[in-house]
Amino acid sequence: MSDTSLTRRQFLAATSAAAAAAAVRPAGAGPGPTPAPVRPVAVASANGLAAVKLAVDQMTGGAAPVDAAVAGVAIVEADPEDLTVGYGGLPNEEGVVQLDAAVMDGTTMRAGAVAALERIKHPARVALEVMRRTTRILLVGEGALKFARAHGFPEENLLTERARKIWLYWKENAAPKDDWLPAASEVDDPDLKWFITKYGDSMFRPTGTIHLSAVGPDGAVGCCTTTSGLFFKLPGRVGDSPLVGCGLYCDGEVGTAGGTGHGESAIISCGAHTVVELMRQGKSPEAACLATLERVVANTRVAWLKDATGRPANNLNLYAANRAGEVGGAALFSGSRFAVCRAGEPARLVDCAYLFKKG
Ligand code: ASP
Repeated sequence: MSDTSLTRRQFLAATSAAAAAAAVRPAGAGPGPTPAPVRPVAVASANGLAAVKLAVDQMTGGAAPVDAAVAGVAIVEADPEDLTVGYGGLPNEEGVVQLDAAVMDGTTMRAGAVAALERIKHPARVALEVMRRTTRILLVGEGALKFARAHGFPEENLLTERARKIWLYWKENAAPKDDWLPAASEVDDPDLKWFITKYGDSMFRPTGTIHLSAVGPDGAVGCCTTTSGLFFKLPGRVGDSPLVGCGLYCDGEVGTAGGTGHGESAIISCGAHTVVELMRQGKSPEAACLATLERVVANTRVAWLKDATGRPANNLNLYAANRAGEVGGAALFSGSRFAVCRAGEPARLVDCAYLFKKG
């Protein structure tokens, strides 16, 4: 046996021992009270109704919250009807689908993430491997793809015909002075009609992602966020979703949180980390989300990020759960909902609290 393999084995043994210790006594927490048994619960963005149900079923069957979260969001990653995540997600400015995803485990305080990953349908599963099978946290672009290949993830074309047509329509109509011309018949295309009915034609830059936060029966927490990012983004642009502390964060001493919507707003206010820290100070999940959104408003200072009334021009949604199993969600603007499922109950959509009435 080489020295290297010995070292590696020792390293792995030490890692599992640390994880076991962390499961019993989180770092910095002191012995702390033994958490009361919690019914497994999952909270997610509104596109995660089936995902929260699967995550809760998985945790009831013994899965760790982070694994349950990844299993839940895989439904949406594989769904071509969801234009904001995984397969069928809308591409970047150049028509290339680039995916971002991250996972975090609140027991071990470990995380894994990938950004600008192309051709892999389930980036959250790759993020989980980054967490479990590297000593690092974030891999991007070509490096993330090489890592996924090394771990046997199949490569495939993620750009559906519907997504391609929507992208082309956007490209042809985005700038009056470039060389692209729309065809007169284009708006009669059923895929474009479907898109315009669902998202409208004025801004044409709607947002979407799935975040899922999970709390297991012992109050352990884990979370995952996965997205195709902002529609028609600059190639290489990375949003909040794969950034630990921004699009997701959890701490086994406190709870778990994440967000969807305008990624840059979440990044500049360290959205998910702020929610978790406010819960640590005693706020409920909903109150912590609202207070974080107030910080986002305070940090929205330049004119082009504001609407005509001085409010933020873009929406941001935050979702949270504490280790006691309480959940909450809030958005900058009215009209958002979040998905929640508690073991033994059906999954349902709940209105988010909000700071501003839309319109
Ligand atoms: N937060 C994602 C991003 O900025 C997009 C979204 O949630 O709509 O990439």
